[in-house]
Formats: sequence, C-alpha cells, structure tokens
Amino acid sequence: MYQEPSIIGASWLSEQSFCEQKLYLNKVKKIPLVATFSMKKGSAVHESKYEEFAKEAKPATWEEFFASDGLVVSREVELRHSGNNVILLGRVDEVACDKDGVYIIDDKPNDYAYIGIRKQIWAYCHLVENNFKALIEKNNKTVFAVLKNRDTGAVVWKEKYIGTHKEELLISLMRLRDVLTGKRQPEPTKNANKCKVCQYNSVCEFSLVKEKAEQT
Ligand code: SF4
Repeated sequence: MYQEPSIIGASWLSEQSFCEQKLYLNKVKKIPLVATFSMKKGSAVHESKYEEFAKEAKPATWEEFFASDGLVVSREVELRHSGNNVILLGRVDEVACDKDGVYIIDDKPNDYAYIGIRKQIWAYCHLVENNFKALIEKNNKTVFAVLKNRDTGAVVWKEKYIGTHKEELLISLMRLRDVLTGKRQPEPTKNANKCKVCQYNSVCEFSLVKEKAEQT
C-alpha cells in the first residue's frame, strides 16, 4: 500500500533526543510552541552571521568548491534528500572545504555535543554526502561533523563521519518516521528536569512535573 513519505527536518533529530513525546505533540498534534528569548536570539545571531558572510562572499560553483585546496566556506546551505520513505530537509549553518576534507558545521550556544546535536549534524552530513557524492568522491575528500560554539566560534566537537554514525542516524530517522505515521508510540522523557522547562508540561499526560505536583 502506498504511503506518502514523511517530511523530517534535520533539527528534529535533536528535538527527538530531548523528548520524543514533545516532538509528537508539536509535529503530529500541531500544538504550537511559543518562540522563546533564546530561540529569537539564535535566529538573530544566524542572520547577522549570514549578513557578514554575504558581504565578503565570492560566487563559485559546487565543482570549484569541492575541488578547492584552500579553505572555502558556504553558509545556510539548504538541502533535501529522499530515501526510506522519508524526505529529509536541512539548512546547514556552514559547509567548509579544504585540501583534507569537507566540514559540516553547526553553530550552537553549547559547549557539549549532546547525542541529539550529534545526530542533527550527522543528518546534515547525510544530506551533503547524498547531494554531492560524486564531487566528494572525485576530490577524495573526507567528511567531518563539526560543532562550533555559536558565540565564541571555538570548535566543541569534530569527528569523521563514518558508517556507525550513518547507522545510528538511520535508526533514529526510521523511528521518527514511524512515530510521525502512527506506527509507533512516542517515548516521553524520564528526566523531570526536561519536563520542568517544557512548554507542554501543563498539557502533556506524561509530564513528570505534573505527577510530582499531584503527589504533594
Ligand atoms: S512534559 Fe515532559 S514528557 Fe511531556 S512533552 Fe514535555 S518533556 Fe516530554
């Protein structure tokens, strides 16, 4: 039986890791989230970084980009890839290339690469690999996943993107697809601290904050 492909944003991998139930309430039940101060600040910082980049940027083809031995950078690269009945979408903060490799960079206000953030960056690596496979192979470049601190620019985590990362990413993507299509129940977090800061804690049936309040 034909089933429409599920549309999944790369950043959902990070949200899934925070709490799958929260993602389900937002994406399937369509309960809106209010934009917080940190979300608004994040968008403003990305916008201003892009404006700075655009002032200096010189146009180049992707052929020239991936063949470059000197460091070249592109920002806000929008990509999509279809496979396994999923349409994966993503906008990569920064794709850089030099003689040694291709660097898929995400800027976050974090000094630790949590597993959800790593999966999000692996999703960007997956998108870049699948969109530019021939050019990456032709130029014999290695793909690296990189997390940078958004405010200091320091590299927080950098790792070659390898087969086990792809497997881990695909398992999460398939799981997410099944949650979105109703084949699998979303898993709520077991961490009450996450519920404390969750916008859905007053409506979510699994909220650990509510449970605590009811017991007292
Ligand atoms: S209240 Fe807790 S369990 Fe419910 S969606 Fe939020 S984080 Fe997940």
